[in-house]
Amino acid sequence: MTQSAFELVIASTNIHKIRELRSMLKGIKLLDLLSLCDFPQYTPPPETGRTFEENASLKAVHAAKTLNRWVIADDSGLVVPALGGAPGIYSARYAGADASDFDNRKKLLEQMSSLPEEDRSAFFECCIACADPSGLKKCVKGICEGKILASEKGNSGFGYDPLFVKNGYSKTFAEIEEITKNRISHRRKALDKLILFLESIHK
Ligand code: IMP
Repeated sequence: MTQSAFELVIASTNIHKIRELRSMLKGIKLLDLLSLCDFPQYTPPPETGRTFEENASLKAVHAAKTLNRWVIADDSGLVVPALGGAPGIYSARYAGADASDFDNRKKLLEQMSSLPEEDRSAFFECCIACADPSGLKKCVKGICEGKILASEKGNSGFGYDPLFVKNGYSKTFAEIEEITKNRISHRRKALDKLILFLESIHK
């Protein structure tokens, strides 16, 4: 008997996140990956959680129940300890509700302009929640530590990538190839903890 494909919805319309997650999940056999771009009538819930974990979970559970499908939701952002954890869960809207990635990076550079070199350390955090229509199944976390440069470098990636250099590297996430970022990123570290579970649910 042939096994049918397993549908999984990435609860995001962020094309960068979707592309990275698709690339990292392509090793899973018979996985039919959709995203919220395939459900234009769906309205995600407001991100009212106090942590990445809470926001990832509420996004996954809401989409899974509404769309009646298995879902993964990524909530992620940049944390700068010297700024009290900012931009943190507000990373996407750091410079305002309609801010672009460029606006957010500009605000971050302004906020960090007077900080000494030793206070420029930062980390990306990514939480990925997995839910089915009955509720939350699993939530995993990955962290990637590094530092924030004083000016942008590189044209690939998204968000804060042109400012972030991972510890042990000399180039920003926007200067390295996406395939390399996908091997070492916070998103990869989180997903590594979910892969076995995803493989097990459609056996
Ligand atoms: P979310 O869609 O609410 O999870 O917000 C994610 C935001 O965090 C993005 O808009 C980016 O500003 C930032 N972010 C998350 N992951 C990355 C990454 O891999 N590189 C750069 N910025 C990221």
